[in-house]
Amino acid sequence: MYWEKSIETMKRAKLQELQLNRLKETIGRTKKSFYYGKLFKEKKLGISAIKKLKDIEKFPFTTKDDLREHWPYGFIAVPKEELVRMHSSSGTTGRATVVFHTIKDIAVWSNLLARCMYMTGMRKRDVFQNMMSYGLFTGGLGFHYGAEKIGALIIPAGAGNSKRQIQLMRDFGTTVIHVIPSYALHLSTVFEELKINSRRDTKVKMAFLGAEPHTEKMRKKIEDIYGYKAFNSYGLSEMNGPGVAFECPEQNGMHIWEDSFLVEIINPKTLQPVADGEEGELVMTSLQREGMPLIRYRTKDLTRIIPGTCPCGRIHRRIERIKGRTDDMIILKGVNIFPMQVEKKLMEIPGVGTNFLIILDREEFNDMMTVKVEVDKKYFSGEIKQMETLRKKIVEELKNEILVTPKVDLVEPDSIPKGEGKVVRVVDNRKE
Ligand code: ADP
Ligand code: ZN
Repeated sequence: MYWEKSIETMKRAKLQELQLNRLKETIGRTKKSFYYGKLFKEKKLGISAIKKLKDIEKFPFTTKDDLREHWPYGFIAVPKEELVRMHSSSGTTGRATVVFHTIKDIAVWSNLLARCMYMTGMRKRDVFQNMMSYGLFTGGLGFHYGAEKIGALIIPAGAGNSKRQIQLMRDFGTTVIHVIPSYALHLSTVFEELKINSRRDTKVKMAFLGAEPHTEKMRKKIEDIYGYKAFNSYGLSEMNGPGVAFECPEQNGMHIWEDSFLVEIINPKTLQPVADGEEGELVMTSLQREGMPLIRYRTKDLTRIIPGTCPCGRIHRRIERIKGRTDDMIILKGVNIFPMQVEKKLMEIPGVGTNFLIILDREEFNDMMTVKVEVDKKYFSGEIKQMETLRKKIVEELKNEILVTPKVDLVEPDSIPKGEGKVVRVVDNRKE
């Protein structure tokens, strides 16, 4: 059973007591790492600084740059022979950071993921196809170990090779998949090409969508195409990987497992905590990790705590779906734009296909944004002639959302290159 009732529904005061104990233990452990050992000595910090949870604010933040500067072993808090696994981030925003696990870390992580999957209704009888890359990336092995705890039959398909994915799904009666959202949409074009009806010809009833930001509209689009339920899965390698926060059947925000992560939301500019329920950058302290515990890690992910309790009965607070990373923000003609705003609008417009790309150029000091948008095949087969009407509509809708007028190019389905991993939404040619 991976409905950990005593932890998932415990009283808030009890949870905070547990967090405080685990926080003290964590501070004790981190001290043994080269990085924190030195830092704590300099700043005269240690377990005695922690009397209540809020005392975490006395400690400095840890950033991705700190991890990079102390690459590879500067953050390990146990003798090297205690480590059993290494993972790394995807390197979406620079040199990938590495993370190490002890055997207990793997057990705790697997447990958290089993808790997530069980929460959505996955059971032992399910056939789980893991369409994430196995290897250094955490989405493959992380979910694999979690699903094994539940006892489901796992198909470790890995990423890519769409035709084989579809064949595996059909041959072995896959009921649950784990997939990157942009890949789920791409896969729908392959189903179409093979003339296979994903609703009728597969048994998939549930998908876990993780690893990249996506909008509610994108989720709806995926659910509408496939007819299954799609749950948002959030995590980052620095905090194990997936299994940090996950949607429950309410599909309204992701429960962040507070017995394992101490959560703060800060204003990324002032670095001060934001008011309850306000948007800011998610900062986390790991409460159970041994191999490489991190204190006040700045995720650069923007979200907020959803106020109030969840009807499902779990007391762990919910974070809203990630709006994007602080460093994803585009500044164009002085206006701040997130790629997710573009996605949200595009996914609402009938005729828009499954992929898009934002290209930023500079022409004689004038910044330009071009949005390449894949549209339904019908427009290219001559079935529909109103290409220009659609294009104008997209320009208009985007302008209303982002307040600058982009150039819009309509392109054929599948013409924007799509790899197996995280999708690239923005190409910025202004930096040269
Ligand atoms: P990298 O930071 O190099 O991409 P990771 O593989 O560790 O490496 O990815 C973690 C990051 O992926 C998160 O910090 C977040 O930006 C993004 N991410 C993961 N899951 C989600 C999700 N469900 N929604 C939005 N963003 C996500
Ligand atoms: Zn819930």
